[in-house]
Amino acid sequence: MKNVQEIIDNRLCTGCGLCAALIPNVRMEVDSEGFLTPSGIKENINNDLNAKILSICPGINQINKNKDTSKENKIWGRIEVLKSGHSSDEEIRHKGSSGGVLTAIAIYLIESNMVTGVLQNTVSKNNPIENLPCLSKSKIEIISNAGSRYAPTSILQILPELLKSNEKLAIIGKPCDISAAHNFLVENPKYKSQVPYMFSFYCAGQPSYFATQKLLNQMGCNDEIDEFRYRGHGWPGDATAITKDGIKYTMSYNDSWGKILGKEIHFRCKICPDGVGYFADIVCADAWDTKDGYPDFKEKDGESLIIAKTSKGALLLEELINKGVIISKQLEIDKIKKIQPYQFNRRVVIGARILGFIFSKKYILNFKGFNLLKNSFSTNFRNLFSNFLGTYKRSSKKK
Ligand SMILES: Cc1cc2nc3c(=O)[nH]c(=O)nc-3n(C[C@H](O)[C@H](O)[C@H](O)COP(=O)(O)OP(=O)(O)OC[C@H]3O[C@@H](n4cnc5c(N)ncnc54)[C@H](O)[C@@H]3O)c2cc1C
Repeated sequence: MKNVQEIIDNRLCTGCGLCAALIPNVRMEVDSEGFLTPSGIKENINNDLNAKILSICPGINQINKNKDTSKENKIWGRIEVLKSGHSSDEEIRHKGSSGGVLTAIAIYLIESNMVTGVLQNTVSKNNPIENLPCLSKSKIEIISNAGSRYAPTSILQILPELLKSNEKLAIIGKPCDISAAHNFLVENPKYKSQVPYMFSFYCAGQPSYFATQKLLNQMGCNDEIDEFRYRGHGWPGDATAITKDGIKYTMSYNDSWGKILGKEIHFRCKICPDGVGYFADIVCADAWDTKDGYPDFKEKDGESLIIAKTSKGALLLEELINKGVIISKQLEIDKIKKIQPYQFNRRVVIGARILGFIFSKKYILNFKGFNLLKNSFSTNFRNLFSNFLGTYKRSSKKK
């Protein structure tokens, strides 16, 4: 890509918000497909900024150097420690998306003064559908931001400003947000010590805001709402909308994610080389029980898959377990494939999809260190070809 606008036009923008933070007068706005993209790029960018954004944008640059051959798993990347577990605080476990582990870690870091704030997603006070970036500084704030929000959010929009004001941060975001923060810190090493920890979760892709609207319509909720969550308050917990008059509408996770949200993910997510948080210190996911070889979404107490991906993450995890903040048990690596079959399938076909994009657009994406080729040998040629072709066709569609 020669300019940043081309990244957007080719539907490669992940919506992290970093460019909006760096280019004056650029704002993240909901686009015609219901995703957050920067608006006003063409009018406000100069050559220097263009070159800077082209080198850090996670839409086209994801370079994994977090490799340790003894700890490297071909499919899942580096695994220092693998556990399944949950927060020892029942409120956090209940409100969290799975076991409330990310929330528990963030609270621990704040309360032990290891960071001054947690950069994470929150929900707008004026609109229970709208996601916003925020800096949480207390247990109450962090708990109120627990739970997965299956819609766009641009958390890095406030990162440079927080770093300039000397905050020491933990960042929680999607794998692409964390890789964007990583790219930014590589280009700006003076800020590295101000971000001691980054956390992520397995991500199947970001659904659009229009998908949330569809979900509300299918729930039969057409009134003004006061509160909305996609899941949590149980595991997996129902998607729940509560109107201003106190009427409650719900839909199971199986139906909300499986039939609506999961079908409306961004094109860039379909060719994402990293749905498993390569750039984070600790990554969490759902540690689903399995039934007949598939994840079982029957309601129960939350349990997270917990993976330390760096030695720093491993030390922190050990501390959290020793102090009783997280209750955990050992898990074998082979189990991840059964617990996360969707992610496994994605890992093995993603190389073919990226190739489909490259063939269609004649543009090489700067994605390195994800075993894309090696992983392709874990599936058959037919599967690879259909993924290649599907992406080839989809790639020709412009915004
Ligand atoms: C778009 C999306 C796709 C996902 N796909 C998978 C998947 O394929 N497999 C899987 O096992 N798990 C997936 N998850 C993650 C899963 O739902 C849980 O978040 C994860 O298991 C961690 O649970 P927890 O209880 O430890 O997190 P919690 O303690 O509930 O903390 C969740 C944290 O994530 C932040 N957050 C929520 N939504 C977003 C967002 N959209 N962008 C950035 N930050 C956000 C919250 O602010 C909070 O800090 C996905 C989540 C999202 C948002």
